Amino acid sequence: MDLRDLYQDIIVDHNRNPRNFRTIAGAVRLAEGYNPLCGDKLVVYAQVVDGRVEDVSFVGSGCAISTASASLMTEAVKGKTVAEAEALFTDMHELLTGKSVGDPERLGKLAALAGVKDYPARVKCATLSWHTLNAALHGEQTPVRTE
Ligand code: ZN
Repeated sequence: MDLRDLYQDIIVDHNRNPRNFRTIAGAVRLAEGYNPLCGDKLVVYAQVVDGRVEDVSFVGSGCAISTASASLMTEAVKGKTVAEAEALFTDMHELLTGKSVGDPERLGKLAALAGVKDYPARVKCATLSWHTLNAALHGEQTPVRTE
């Protein structure tokens, strides 16, 4: 299996079975993201305790790339400090806009999305969850009641 097939498998898997696809009740930060070019819509929830992302999740609907990207994002930032999450956001943004290939060691499975940079129309699908996370992390802590 070459790297491209492996990356494809990761995206398919995370789209079919998204990780952390749920809301978080309690004191959380959240933000809504919308990509009008494709119709991707999601809400990212982040529970931050002492500067660390204790829990992070998302709900919403979108294309395979946006769902897989959001799923991979939650796995990647969970347990990280807010500063580390922001550094990953920068890395992902550079990777997806082709400014840099990023550090494969640090990006791990997130590198599966690298191929998106060859499809400019899809870049916003892949960056949506990251922009939304960033907005959530900089938002106020809000008490959220969920179903
Ligand atoms: Zn999309």
